[in-house]
Amino acid sequence: MQILLGNILKNPNILCKFAPNLELMNYTILDPDEQGFAKIEKFNKEKTERLASLYSEILGILGEDVNREGLLKTPERVAKAMQFLTQGYDMDAEEIIRSAMFREDYRQMVIVKDIELYSMCEHHMLPFYGKAHVAYIPNHYITGLSKIARVVDVFSRRLQVQERLTTQIKDCIQNTLDPLGVAVVIEAHHMCMQMRGVQKQNSITTTSDFTGVFLKQAKTRQEFLALIDRNRL
Ligand SMILES: [Zn+2]
Repeated sequence: MQILLGNILKNPNILCKFAPNLELMNYTILDPDEQGFAKIEKFNKEKTERLASLYSEILGILGEDVNREGLLKTPERVAKAMQFLTQGYDMDAEEIIRSAMFREDYRQMVIVKDIELYSMCEHHMLPFYGKAHVAYIPNHYITGLSKIARVVDVFSRRLQVQERLTTQIKDCIQNTLDPLGVAVVIEAHHMCMQMRGVQKQNSITTTSDFTGVFLKQAKTRQEFLALIDRNRL
């Protein structure tokens, strides 16, 4: 994940790699390690037991011997993994943003790009993964940069389609910060296309959604797209 911020020019050498026209824009990249966001692993005991029992049945139906050594703990592991991968249902993305809203009269583009994204398609329950790029132009309020990444996580950790995921991230930021505009682009590989179906291994699905100035001003939108058009998948 890289974080780009307007008008805080700290390290021009790093910047140039991502934004060759930087003199015009003044962006910098903050160390993503400083942004560390909490991962939550909590499992409901009853839910885990019920899921494990069902996964054990599924393994049997698929022709596996559920009693062989390697599979003994598999139903429980899968039960926990699935709860982890769908933990976003229990989280409120707007609350995450509201918990870290600060008044600031900064009106340049804020971009958080290359946010790693792991989700599951709701049609096949197979993973899709890639990167999200999110930008907004503040209108009196900003949020903690790591909160943007957490919003991506909250909506990713549910059964999803990439189109809805894109729109939900955009709506969440628009509804909470009420910025002058929001831009979201997601690029992802879909395992349901790569492992099965048409078996297209190298296809990338790109979705985008914009509000406000990103919709109305082609120049602003182009600036955003130019900045994220680096290090594509
Ligand atoms: Zn699918």
